[in-house]
Parts: sequence; C-alpha cells; structure tokens
Amino acid sequence: NGPVVIVGAGHGGYQVAASLRQAGFAEPISLINDEAHLPYQRPPLSKAYIKGSAGPESLMFRPEKFYQDQKIELIAGRAVSIDRVGHKVLLASGATLPYGHLVLATGARNRLLDLPNANLPDVRYLRILDDSEALRQIMPSKKRAVIIGAGFIGLEFAATARIKGLEVDVLELAPRVMARAVTAEVSEYFQERHREAGIRIHLGVQATSIEAENGKVTGVSLSDGRHLPADLVVVGVGVLPNIELAADAGLPVAAGIIVDEYLSTVDPDISAIGDCALFASPRFGSSLRLESVQNATDHARCLAARLTGDRKPYDSHPWFWSDQGDDKLQIAGLTTGYDRVVLRGSPAKKAFSAFCYHGDRLLGIESINRAGDHMFGRRLQSMDRSITPEQAADESFDLKSALA
Ligand code: FAD
Repeated sequence: NGPVVIVGAGHGGYQVAASLRQAGFAEPISLINDEAHLPYQRPPLSKAYIKGSAGPESLMFRPEKFYQDQKIELIAGRAVSIDRVGHKVLLASGATLPYGHLVLATGARNRLLDLPNANLPDVRYLRILDDSEALRQIMPSKKRAVIIGAGFIGLEFAATARIKGLEVDVLELAPRVMARAVTAEVSEYFQERHREAGIRIHLGVQATSIEAENGKVTGVSLSDGRHLPADLVVVGVGVLPNIELAADAGLPVAAGIIVDEYLSTVDPDISAIGDCALFASPRFGSSLRLESVQNATDHARCLAARLTGDRKPYDSHPWFWSDQGDDKLQIAGLTTGYDRVVLRGSPAKKAFSAFCYHGDRLLGIESINRAGDHMFGRRLQSMDRSITPEQAADESFDLKSALA
C-alpha cells in the first residue's frame, strides 16, 4: 500500500509503471529517471539507430503525454540512498520520496577498460542513447575502428561500422566470438559472416595499450605484439550490475541484487528487477542474472501483478535476439550446460538452428534467420515439451506436430 517508487526508467522500470496502471493500480507512481530522455528502447543503440538518421524520439516507448495521462510522475534525477526504516528514497537533488513499495530497476553499466588513454574522446562505449548519438556524430569523420570485445554489442556495432564504410578490427580474448553465450557452431557462423563483410576478427588476443598523439587515438597494441592503426576504439567488454544503492541500504547483493522467486529482496517492501537482479529460479534450480529485454519486461509484469494482488513466482522462459549485419540470431531458452548440439537447416544457406541438449533434454534453440524455429522453440518450452535430437535434425519432421 502507498506510493510505488521505481528507481531507473529503462526497460524494466518503464514496464512496471505501465503494467501497474494497466492492472488498475490507483496509488501514486514515481519513475526516477537519471537519463536526459523519456524512457526509450536500448537494443537499437548498437544497430538501427547508429545506422540510420531517425531522431531520438523514434526510440521512445511512449510520448510525454502517456505519463501525464497515466499519472506516472517522471522524476529527473538520481537516487542516492534508501532509508528503509523511514520508507524514503533520497535523490541527488536533496529531495526525498516516500514509498510504500520500492522497485530497484537500476540496470547495469559498462565495465571500463583499465588501460592508459582509455578515457580519450575517441574511446567509446555503448550503453545509453547519448553514447549511440555521439558515435553516430563522430563516425563519418573516422576511418578505422578497433572494437575491443566480441560479445553481442561489440559485434553488432562492428557490423554497423563496416556498413558505414569504416575499416573494422575486432579483438577478443576468448578463442571464439560470443563464447559465453552461444554454441561453437553459431560462433563459427558469425565469425565467417563478419569476415566475409570485411571485418578482421582477432581471437585469443588482448589490447595491451591504446596509443594516441595530441589526445587523438592512433592505434591499439595487442598482446601478441601486433599493432593495429585506429582513429576510433569502441569497448564492449561486458557490464556490471548497478547494485550499490541496494548494498548501501544493507540489502544482500552478490553478482546482482539478491531477490527470491517473487523478485523480492529480504525487505518485503523492496523488489529488484531486470539486469540488476540476481533472482532465484525454481525452473532452472539456481540463481540467475540475465541481460535481456525479455527478462526485464517479464520481471516487470510479474512484479506489477504481485503488487496488484496476483502473487506468483517468476517463471517466464528466457529468449533473446541479436541483429548483426543481415543476420538475425534468436535464442529460445538458456543453452548453458548443453552436452550435445544438433543442427537443423544449413549454415551454408545462411539459415539454421542449433538445438542444444543435455542428454535428451532440450535446453534451448539458437536460430539464425529461422524465425519459425525460434517461435516453435518458445511455444514448445511454454508447453514444457521437448523433441528428440533425431527429430530436431530431421528436416522432414514436422515441428508443428510436436505442438498439437
Ligand atoms: P536498463 O534498461 O539499463 O535501465 C536502467 C536505468 O536505470 C538506466 O536508465 C540507468 O541510468 C538508471 N539508473 C541506474 N541507477 C540509477 C539511480 N541510482 N537513480 C536513477 N536511475 C538510475 N537485449 C535484448 O534482449 N536484445 C538486444 O538486441 C539487445 N541489444 C542491446 C544493445 C545495447 C547497445 C544495449 C546497451 C543493451 C542491449 N540489450 C539487448 C540488453 C537490454 O537493453 C537490457 O537487458 C535491458 O535494457 C535491461 O533493462 P533494465 O531496466 O534492467 O535496465
């Protein structure tokens, strides 16, 4: 009971506010927003937004009028501390906001590169709209980009930069791209596709220094002794969850703000959702912290339902996507822990899916340009069903029959 205060107006924060109103929640809602824009979609920042010329308003979830009509108070500023006893949030401006329920939707921030010259203006990161906007502005004057980190964001940006005509080198410490997130088959496919596009991918190497002259980047030195010329460096070496506000308030944190299967912290009046939350998952039998739009928005919906009287554990099936050049990767389920991969379709034809199994249990499906397989995987998982590895590999097996 009482006002809901939401810290962070990203995917999760926005969605809790919208879902609360949709469910008829009538108390005040405040959404604390430390970015200088209305709440917006993040995925296009490394893809369509950088490539195109549409303005920032093309990314907004809703126009300003929506917040006025829905009586969602957008508060510009940053939450700096929580008074759990007094049920108040303190803002950097000195203002305090009383809460009945507090939602921490603080997301994550970029892991910074710890190298000399890493703070020069030609060394960039991608997390917020201002980062993407700045890159879009400076790219026309740049010729050679070195991208540090071949995760989703590094590779999405690499593909975009190449399309924009830049020479592109990508450095990755692991022996394959996106190694933490996808199977070797999918890594190999994307390595090949990016190479075909003219991107040079260097695996098993690290950046050891960034060289500059008169404050302008001139290149990057690698752990194998090579030196790559560059006038732009983009760093995508992962993120750190924003847990400090919770930790300073005495809430348990580890690799995220610790919440139970209802997304509640140990304080029943404080919940955490999205990228910042390390949540107990009965389905996966462990604690998870996921970084995806699906996770943030489904967390938000689950929490809004609980706050309006429909208390259920969070049990959504994870899914994800990444657009890299002309290829669309979609992942249904969590594929970590697989011991067998079965391909359906053909990498040579640029359309295939990797069905990932642990024993005979289907953990998830990584699809490339096979949206039908992806949707099939999501429906199959929502029905808690599986198909055998033999059926998955057999293109004449009708997937729909498994859903009947
Ligand atoms: P966020 O959206 O990060 O929002 C958190 C907000 O809280 C931020 O605005 C932050 O500034 C604010 N905040 C933090 N601390 C405070 C404070 N103390 N006071 C006030 N405000 C605060 N996911 C996909 O599924 N598919 C994709 O293709 C994809 N592409 C991506 C591309 C890029 C470039 C990036 C950066 C992410 C991408 N993601 C993608 C991931 C996805 O955007 C995130 O998982 C999602 O945004 C998480 O939502 P969230 O609400 O938890 O955090």
